[in-house]
Amino acid sequence: MEASITPLAALSLNSDRHTILVRVTRMWEAVNKRTGAPLHTNVVLLDEKQTHMIAVIRNNQKQIYLPKLKEEEIYAISNFKLVPAPKQYKAVDADYSINFLYKTKIEKWVASAIIPLYKFELKPFPEVKNLVGNVAMLIDVLGMVKSYGKPETRNNGAQKIDVILTDHKNEIMLVTLWEDRVVQLQELLSPFKNEPVFVVTTGLLAKKFSTAASLSGTDATRCYANIDYAPLTDLKKALATTIDGKQGTLTAPTVEQFVTSTGETIQELPISSILKTVIPPEKQLVRCICRAQIVDVLGGNGWYYNCCPTCARAPQDMNGKYYCLACNEDIESLAQRFRIVVRVEDPTGTTTVTLFNKEAEQLVGVPLQKILVAQSQDQQLMEAIPPVVRNIIGKHCAFQLKITPYNIIQGCEEYTVSRVYEVPSLDTTTSMVPNTKFVADPIGGGIAKKQKLT
Ligand SMILES: [Zn+2]
Repeated sequence: MEASITPLAALSLNSDRHTILVRVTRMWEAVNKRTGAPLHTNVVLLDEKQTHMIAVIRNNQKQIYLPKLKEEEIYAISNFKLVPAPKQYKAVDADYSINFLYKTKIEKWVASAIIPLYKFELKPFPEVKNLVGNVAMLIDVLGMVKSYGKPETRNNGAQKIDVILTDHKNEIMLVTLWEDRVVQLQELLSPFKNEPVFVVTTGLLAKKFSTAASLSGTDATRCYANIDYAPLTDLKKALATTIDGKQGTLTAPTVEQFVTSTGETIQELPISSILKTVIPPEKQLVRCICRAQIVDVLGGNGWYYNCCPTCARAPQDMNGKYYCLACNEDIESLAQRFRIVVRVEDPTGTTTVTLFNKEAEQLVGVPLQKILVAQSQDQQLMEAIPPVVRNIIGKHCAFQLKITPYNIIQGCEEYTVSRVYEVPSLDTTTSMVPNTKFVADPIGGGIAKKQKLT
């Protein structure tokens, strides 16, 4: 039998009489992004020559083939069909893929075979920015986990978690994982409390995140931690070695309330310190995290505003006609956005913060348009703060705030909330960032230096 094995690289489109000897390195169900319906099952096959290729199992074949295949096992497979690989969202860099037929034979290989456990399509971090919007190939990356966030729920209800990876040059990359990958990642990292964790993450797409490029998970995404994989060992060595006279930077991951695209830790400040913050001359603003309870919704300026539908800026009122200075255009019909000013309190003091559209909707849990439609049926209530908005009173939240010269020079508190995360309760006795030590200097620029862990 051994003599008749064909390497994956030597397969041809014309014949289905080949036998291949392959390890199943991973399997996942491809799902329709919009409906969530399963499309088919992908199986990554790897052979002795370290060529990999996807085999596709259609939904109506799942009952036949899935019980016969297990990840990491080696199989001799024959009577399959070689087909051109899909042109988009390719998980492995191969021109062909394999379709299983009803006559396909799968036999577990019990003799010895030297096939590695893993092969990935690793992309260096600096290349990611050139791949934004490119959906031809999915991206695999390798890095040391510098930090990761708490799971967050997006407006559409999707769960996400942000992870910051470091490469051999201490460059960082933000990777966002979705839905069931959130819990999988937490479970993967939880055994490594105080040691560095190196992960390979597969099946990612490059996205633009503010100004930097970042990576976002797909249904092909899988994470592997501290596996026996040569490039991972090399990265570990590189990071442990002295770089430019500086000591190595092997650190255990930190858990952050919010992960930033630059990987910097944002300092948590009590309200009393926020009120005393001074913006250093070289900075436009200071970011901080504030954990506080919402104690009131302030009605003075309403709870939403009319804006330009293009840029969301407030329009100029020209005798009943509206004009947007930013877009340089007349506005046909105004759009509306949330702007909720709330009073928040922690044990050190009280202040006010402003929640704009995305963050407001996240806390209110109901889109603005829905509330406005319900409200308009009762014109008298139009200007009052609707109960669904008042429902956010009492919530304990971690707010990421922007402290700007406007707040300080104009003496106007109303700090803008750039991110919000509801926390179960206000517990000021324990730090929410276990492995990180903050610099106890509220006016030192807002960005705390990371404590080095050994
Ligand atoms: Zn505009």
